[in-house]
Amino acid sequence: MPKSDLILLALSDLQMLQLFERALVASSYKVAIAREKTALDKVLQESSPALVILEEEFAGQDGLTVAEDLLDRFPTMPVVLFLSHETVPVLRKAISIGVSDCLCAPLRIEDIGQAVERSIRRADRVGDWTRREIRRTTASLQHRVKELQKFETIVNTIEDGVMILDERQCILLINPVVRRTFGLWQEEDLTGRPVLEVIDHPDLRSLLTSDGKGIAPHHEINFDDGRCLSAQCTPIPGVGLAITMQDISYLRQIDRLKSEFINTVSHDLRSPLTAILGYVDLLERVGPLNDAQREFIQRVQISVESITGLVNDLLELGRIEAGVDSQKEMIRLDSLVQLTAETLEVQINEKRQKLTLEIPPGKPLELRGNPIRLRQMLDNLLGNAIKYTPEGGEIIVELEEQAEQIILRVTDTGPGIPPSDQPHIFEKFYRASNVPKGVGGSGLGLAIVKSIVDNHHGRIWVESILGKGSTFVVVLPIYRDEK
Ligand code: ADP
Repeated sequence: MPKSDLILLALSDLQMLQLFERALVASSYKVAIAREKTALDKVLQESSPALVILEEEFAGQDGLTVAEDLLDRFPTMPVVLFLSHETVPVLRKAISIGVSDCLCAPLRIEDIGQAVERSIRRADRVGDWTRREIRRTTASLQHRVKELQKFETIVNTIEDGVMILDERQCILLINPVVRRTFGLWQEEDLTGRPVLEVIDHPDLRSLLTSDGKGIAPHHEINFDDGRCLSAQCTPIPGVGLAITMQDISYLRQIDRLKSEFINTVSHDLRSPLTAILGYVDLLERVGPLNDAQREFIQRVQISVESITGLVNDLLELGRIEAGVDSQKEMIRLDSLVQLTAETLEVQINEKRQKLTLEIPPGKPLELRGNPIRLRQMLDNLLGNAIKYTPEGGEIIVELEEQAEQIILRVTDTGPGIPPSDQPHIFEKFYRASNVPKGVGGSGLGLAIVKSIVDNHHGRIWVESILGKGSTFVVVLPIYRDEK
């Protein structure tokens, strides 16, 4: 039992003081004495006693108030209260303050030693437990720091751009690839800053701007120098948002080469096709034909016209992709939607379908765009809705303006598009596995639509449930500076 502990006696009564001192020295404790408040503070500061014995009334002050103050400043130090009379209110207050023990006159020498030893032992146990807990917490924190360091190393060395944002879209983490891509200084600490303040890029802005259906999950970020990133947004519950970006510039380059090739071939095909049609037309004029010959000629005509249609679509796509005739003016999309609907009325009626236009009344929905191309976009989207929706089905076209953008939704009650086909339907010549038998098409319509939307710096995606229907969503900025 280590008895070198220092016990501070804060007692005013001289007789009691001597009694306590004798008892403690007999039990081999060291003793310090304070008979008034200043001396008490001095010993506490300079000698860090292991325990304080405090009288009920110390140096004219209420001992319980002094004890409370002591425990406020030194919460782990045991304080033993010496009372001349035990009363329930005093004991209750002593317990509520957190006094370690109470001694009451008349006292025996061994009572003092035992009370002191008990309190010190308990304080030691609390101290040991606290140290153990601190060690355990520190070890677990060190482990987590190591894990975080590992995570940071992965994020920093990964080839993709990674950004983690909080719920207010402020930066929590940004990796070197993102910094390099957007020309941000490596050294600058960007944590906590709003991402759109740090990276002022219109495509990132539209990726992060809510369009009424939440943030778009996929998006392309284009740069004037031709670079292109594919960006994905993943909400992280309780954190915010993770944005990952891959450089797809090389895919763009391949696509460009492919388009150039298709364009050249289509162009070269046009003249022979015109010649075939011309000579087929002439056949009847150079001599009489029998019925079989006439039927064969008709079949040749139908086939050549179908190839000509395909070639024309390809050339059209090439022109849109090349940005030819991309002159833009302020146009009313609501009027264009109405006009398209009127033109397609015959087809809608033929299939006994119901078309509903949901256009907010009052304000015209204007945007800067190319009227011919936007009309082509609407023709294709509505045309597909009519084509793929069975007889008696329903088509809804909605328009709304939100945050400097016009949102167009074309919803149908058609067959829906299988999830595995959805990422590909905007590719050239792609026809999904849902196409009903006998429904014709070249697989170029949506590629044309996507090019037109890109040309207007907009976004397009499909939301579809198999067997229920599809919604094509187009988001077009109302106005954007053309460089
Ligand atoms: P297509 O000439 O085949 O209609 P598109 O490029 O217009 O070519 O469309 C590509 C494919 O997307 C279609 O073949 C079809 O599988 C699917 N698709 C397009 N629109 C719809 C729709 N409204 N409902 C169901 N499937 C559709």
